[in-house]
Amino acid sequence: MQYISTRDASNSISSAQAICRGISPDGGLYVPAEFPAIELDEIGQMRYWPYEKIAQAVLKRYLTDYSETELMEIATEAYQKFEDEKRVPLYPLSDREQVLELFHGPTLAFKDVALQMLPHLLGHAAKKIGQQEKILILVATSGDTGKAALEGFASVPHTAINVFYPQEGVSAMQKLQMITQRGENVYVCGVNGNFDDAQTGVKNLFGDAALEETLKNMGVKLSSANSINFGRLVPQVVYYFAAYAQLLDQEKIQLGEKVNFVVPTGNFGNILAGYYAMRMGLPVNKLICASNRNHVLTDFFEDGAYEARRPFYKTLSPSMDILVSSNLERLLFELVDRDEKQVAEWMQALKQNGRYEIGLEAAGKLRETFYAGYCDDDQTRQTIREVFEKTHYLMDPHTAVGQRVYKEYREKTGDDTMSVVLSTASPYKFGADVLFALTGEEQVGNEFEKAQALSQLTGRAVPNQILSLKTLPVLHRDSCEKQQMMDRVLNWIKRV
Ligand SMILES: *Cc1c(COP(=O)(O)O)cnc(C)c1O
Repeated sequence: MQYISTRDASNSISSAQAICRGISPDGGLYVPAEFPAIELDEIGQMRYWPYEKIAQAVLKRYLTDYSETELMEIATEAYQKFEDEKRVPLYPLSDREQVLELFHGPTLAFKDVALQMLPHLLGHAAKKIGQQEKILILVATSGDTGKAALEGFASVPHTAINVFYPQEGVSAMQKLQMITQRGENVYVCGVNGNFDDAQTGVKNLFGDAALEETLKNMGVKLSSANSINFGRLVPQVVYYFAAYAQLLDQEKIQLGEKVNFVVPTGNFGNILAGYYAMRMGLPVNKLICASNRNHVLTDFFEDGAYEARRPFYKTLSPSMDILVSSNLERLLFELVDRDEKQVAEWMQALKQNGRYEIGLEAAGKLRETFYAGYCDDDQTRQTIREVFEKTHYLMDPHTAVGQRVYKEYREKTGDDTMSVVLSTASPYKFGADVLFALTGEEQVGNEFEKAQALSQLTGRAVPNQILSLKTLPVLHRDSCEKQQMMDRVLNWIKRV
């Protein structure tokens, strides 16, 4: 399988090259030259397979320059820290609705699924293309990516990782997770601003020729762990198949029956992986794109205008506080039948004017597959409380946004297709907010005391990943302005 850029389809490269480069030099994102297929028969077999084998079956079709043995080793290594035997277990909420728990990895967020695997994919890829340089991973994070990337790359030989997080826009617990990160090859720095400031800063560093040259002379090569890297996207395609296989195994559906997936969305990586799974042959009815008060995507699916010039709100679901959803570019590329000139034009307009329009007709075409909705913080809290009162199931705020939008979808359309809500974080990662949602009162105490209170209220143990943070020393206290990010990178990389 070869890979092409969404802005220049004339040059193709191997999967190892696409993973090493992260983003294409023309600013586009790498996509496979075509969608590989998995036959329904094989999907039917998956109910008997462990997660790692399903991963191998999906990955081998995309990463054709990796051997099958290699891919099995990579999958085994990647998911050994997932405490659940199924890796991504389903939890039944009602007879037509299941929650897919993607948060059983080391950082309690769904990004572990991809970021526990990416360092291994990258390490093998570098070897395949004969790259000698040390790989420097630069990450802009809205919270969960940062910790998950740090956890994935810490102490991995021939790599170093630098995470920039927005000072405004990560929870106290998320911040604590990052600034206590150990590893001789890690550097964590706050940026004064919001997520888009941090992300734009990192994007600019990637496009800076002078920086590239300086690093090259130091034997260092930049790479990305953000969800624009194809190596981040492809592990996420796997759990759509794994969810379907579990539904088959539990005899909740017949082979071939279509399923809805409800996805709390930010950068559009997770839901795009669902779209890829569908294009590969997974029976999907609707992909439901759930947003919070920053509902640029809901509006886009409605009227075909992507309007990033709008107020930015901090919400209870900070990992979805995003105005520029990078991965949407990959969907647009498919929408226009891979017309890269059209995609490049839109992306140029977005960069210059903060907006672009695909038109009403194109939006209608997208709505054949996608449904989009949003809810605000009050509705998010209300959903956490309602679900808990009704089913005793505890949701984090991101998952609750998905749940709420699904409820609205079902009421509006009457569609009772079997539906899977993707749960993207453990409720304990946002313990204070979840506790407030349940009790309606601001509780006194620090994050850990609130986690304990939550545990008492619900009878569920606080995860070890949270408990252990209490005693870890703070190792990263640095912060900077957007304009200082390059200096920070260079000063640090000289020393590692
Ligand atoms: C990253 C993240 C999201 C958004 O996922 P995208 O792939 O960026 O759309 C949603 N919820 C949580 C908890 C996340 O960490």
